Amino acid sequence: MYILKQDIENLMSYIHQYDRIIIHRHLNPDPDAIGSQLGLKEMIQYNFPHKEVYAVGNTAETLQWMGEMDRIHQNDYSGSLVIITDTANRPRIDDDRYIHGDCLIKIDHHPLVDEYGDLSLVYPQASSTCELITQMIQQNPSMFRMNHAAASLLYAGIVGDTGRFMFDNTTESTFESASFLMQYEVDLFKIHTTFNTLSFPMLKFQSYLLDQLNVSEPGIAWMKITQEVLQKFDITEEETNAFVNLPSVLAEVYAWVMLVEQKDGTWRMRIRSKGPVINQLAAKYDGGGHPKASGANAANEDVINQFIEDLKEQVQYYLNTFERSE
Ligand code: AMP
Repeated sequence: MYILKQDIENLMSYIHQYDRIIIHRHLNPDPDAIGSQLGLKEMIQYNFPHKEVYAVGNTAETLQWMGEMDRIHQNDYSGSLVIITDTANRPRIDDDRYIHGDCLIKIDHHPLVDEYGDLSLVYPQASSTCELITQMIQQNPSMFRMNHAAASLLYAGIVGDTGRFMFDNTTESTFESASFLMQYEVDLFKIHTTFNTLSFPMLKFQSYLLDQLNVSEPGIAWMKITQEVLQKFDITEEETNAFVNLPSVLAEVYAWVMLVEQKDGTWRMRIRSKGPVINQLAAKYDGGGHPKASGANAANEDVINQFIEDLKEQVQYYLNTFERSE
């Protein structure tokens, strides 16, 4: 239980104060972003049925099973409370209209890089924003009554950000939160099966990715996906998310990157690690994130090549400093 009592009291005092609450999360959402956004919406609505609560942002097709976004007008922001979940920095907030609210609250588990909001609840020790929200309720049960729908959304977010309790952001608190949510009859099998399911084109695409996977000394891997390939396999960029961890099974690979060409010819870099810290490197390439899971951008192939050299250096540093001294 790591959340300051004062933070929970302040959050509840704002929620009590406002009759219209609009919840945002980050661009290119993952299950933790959607789970924290829609889980919070569900709980506020369940506990305060007279309040209007909206969740906004672009629809993520692969995550539609978690729920739909609401359509609202800019006028709706006047006199409203805006809560942003799972979003470290302001440029990453999906839907710029958040600035038109009366009051802004940030709830996040990413390392603090951009302090924003009238109230900021940032706890990087939480595996996920969904764990953080669950911990608040466990710590202060009078805050919200939980229900099945909210518990299922929060559980899905925890599963997403911990790679099904496999990544080393999984702690005793993560299991405590999962166990707490399970009391609300979360359909664990259904959620885990959904995470595991691929379409036939996606399975074919996986085989392509394995075929063209690049592995190099001192322990890095990269996968390049052009717009042409996406079209050939009839895959959306969002659907490539399912394969970002493919290289993790290789013992000799410590860090890797999935490079996805954007429609404007630039590249999105999705970086992952089993040890080396990669978020500072991501920041150098117009990105950021967690020490072992980050995102960044590259304007062209020259920048990608430079990034790959930097990643090699980072892995070499890690090997010199940690692995070989163990
Ligand atoms: P992704 O590769 O998109 O799954 O992102 C991995 C992690 O890095 C997530 O926690 C993202 O929120 C974060 N992230 C991705 N792209 C950026 C970016 N451009 N700036 C800051 N954080 C990012």
